[in-house]
Amino acid sequence: MRNLPLWSDLCNRNCQARLVVLSDEQTTTYLGVRVMRRKLAAGNWKMNGTAAALPELQSLATSYPDASVDVLICPPATLLHRAAEAVKDTGITVGGQDCHAAESGAHTGDVSALMLVDAGASAVILGHSERREDHGEQNEDVCAKARSAMDAGLKAIICVGESLEQREAANTLDIIGGQMSGSIPDQSTGENLVVAYEPIWAIGTGKVPTLDEIGEVHDFIRARLERRFGEGVGRSVRLLYGGSVKPGNAAEIFAVSNVDGALVGGASLKAKDFSGIIDALQKA
Ligand code: PEP
Repeated sequence: MRNLPLWSDLCNRNCQARLVVLSDEQTTTYLGVRVMRRKLAAGNWKMNGTAAALPELQSLATSYPDASVDVLICPPATLLHRAAEAVKDTGITVGGQDCHAAESGAHTGDVSALMLVDAGASAVILGHSERREDHGEQNEDVCAKARSAMDAGLKAIICVGESLEQREAANTLDIIGGQMSGSIPDQSTGENLVVAYEPIWAIGTGKVPTLDEIGEVHDFIRARLERRFGEGVGRSVRLLYGGSVKPGNAAEIFAVSNVDGALVGGASLKAKDFSGIIDALQKA
């Protein structure tokens, strides 16, 4: 019984259970109910952006009063509150790029999950490869941060991905499997967890894996989630691809099985580019 999801898991905001016929790409069936994963376009501004970037965000928000996909922008922490105000009452939400595992305390320079919520965030990116590399974050650190984020009511967008060396050594799936076991907390559900597959060698480089390679990893992640959390929860978690997604390659990536959206760095900084990606996701 432990792995059976609650009805509320199936009917949460992100995975609306519907008794209507939807295409097979959009839906999955669990306990006789069709479950739809709402697609998500998430922008990671990294350490870019000052107040001068807010009009760009406002223009994006006004272009999508009624998007059929979720749109999330993760600006630097200094802009989070103002960004939340800028997109208030629009279809766009904002998120953090990291949080500390503790609620508060003597951690100079850090920001807690509760502080992100207080600033208006609905989600937080965790375990991005730049944090794993620059700050030595290990899987267990990411897991502790994700627990804290989920306890605070945030969605944790947990990033996993292999280096070029690991891919060339045919270790990709082992690496992803290890990162998933170590970084994803037991309390995960379709509502509070999003997994982003981001091959390190594709981030900011213009290089993208083949569609078959993306599909192989996404199918693997889905199968691991189903095995660990049961089919209901496993099928309701959204999986994002990240790494040099642009308006020009978005549509073909979104057509790959088990790709429910994208985590976008560089192309999320310009409303025009990010709009091209959102448009492709809405058509997918
Ligand atoms: C990222 O940093 O998460 C990312 C995917 O960057 P880019 O889109 O610039 O490759």
